[in-house]
Amino acid sequence: MAEDAKLKIGGLTILIERDLCVGFGDCVSEAPDAFQLDDNDQAVFAANPAAVDREKLIKACELCPVDALTVWDEEGRQLIP
Ligand code: SF4
Repeated sequence: MAEDAKLKIGGLTILIERDLCVGFGDCVSEAPDAFQLDDNDQAVFAANPAAVDREKLIKACELCPVDALTVWDEEGRQLIP
């Protein structure tokens, strides 16, 4: 079982539920500085998520076809999915 990954980026908190990830890479294509695929073709955080602007991060997470990416804002409100 793949371990989930959670990261605070700016005001956003992003969770990758790795067992849900099907590895098509939509998030990676949209924000390669924030997401990459590991050896099992599951998303992990890439080298520099902080370099990606907020709207792009939200869009990248919104693109996930299986809702493996959850985003909360600074108030703890869930934005995605
Ligand atoms: S968009 Fe979703 S399913 Fe596709 S690689 Fe990213 S986390 Fe995985």
